[in-house]
Amino acid sequence: MSLFGRKPKAKAVKKRDGGKKAAAKDAEQSLHLAIDGAPVEVTLRLNPRARRVIVKVHPGTGDVTIVAPSRRGLQHALEFARGEHDWIARQRARVPAAVTLAPGAKLPFRGVPHDVRHSAVRGPAPVWRDAEAHVIWVTGRAEHAPRRILDFLKREARALCEAEALDHGAALGVLPARITMRDTASRWGSCSATRAISFSWRLIFAPPFVLDYLAAHEIAHRREMNHGPRFWKAVDMLYPNRERAERWLKVHGPELHRYGVEED
Ligand SMILES: [Zn+2]
Repeated sequence: MSLFGRKPKAKAVKKRDGGKKAAAKDAEQSLHLAIDGAPVEVTLRLNPRARRVIVKVHPGTGDVTIVAPSRRGLQHALEFARGEHDWIARQRARVPAAVTLAPGAKLPFRGVPHDVRHSAVRGPAPVWRDAEAHVIWVTGRAEHAPRRILDFLKREARALCEAEALDHGAALGVLPARITMRDTASRWGSCSATRAISFSWRLIFAPPFVLDYLAAHEIAHRREMNHGPRFWKAVDMLYPNRERAERWLKVHGPELHRYGVEED
């Protein structure tokens, strides 16, 4: 099974190779475990704050992470993970099947199912959406289609995230922060200490109210860099139905990781 979630992770690790974050590289390494006869890439992470060995399987990507409290505990951590073989295999079996962004695919655009089709005639752009017919059209050579569709979805996601963040920013009276798009398996949105806000481009697949909530959440962090009562009060003011959005992400979030381009 091809798992699209791998790529961004590999990128994140690569970034740590240089500069001041070299120490972080030592704290993380990847190896392979045989799961159901096939080698599965496992990220081994040292975290002194962890009280015990933790094995995690990402529900959307199937990525396996083992967190160990100490370097000395590494061998124990691996043995522990091998003992959890059946559990890991069961969790990975639940991961939604990957969908390649190409003509013939079905994907949710802002929560509405769309068919991806190839157009022999030129359109207004290499990729465009017929909102009424619920079709995403792509032109050009077949081998370029996945990358073009991906670029289109990322562009659309960025425009929507920026609009929502500026909207909520205006309502809360905070200056618009720098907004970046990411593809992390662990978070849908984040707000850094430098006040940069980032969102996962995969939110383009979620219904509009989910993005609305996440934008409200991250903008509220511009006021409060914590999850205290004052923070939630600001979120509730901007977006009054956060339980609904959080529930949606909990149930459907893993499915948003299905879509991607084939890796070489
Ligand atoms: Zn938060």
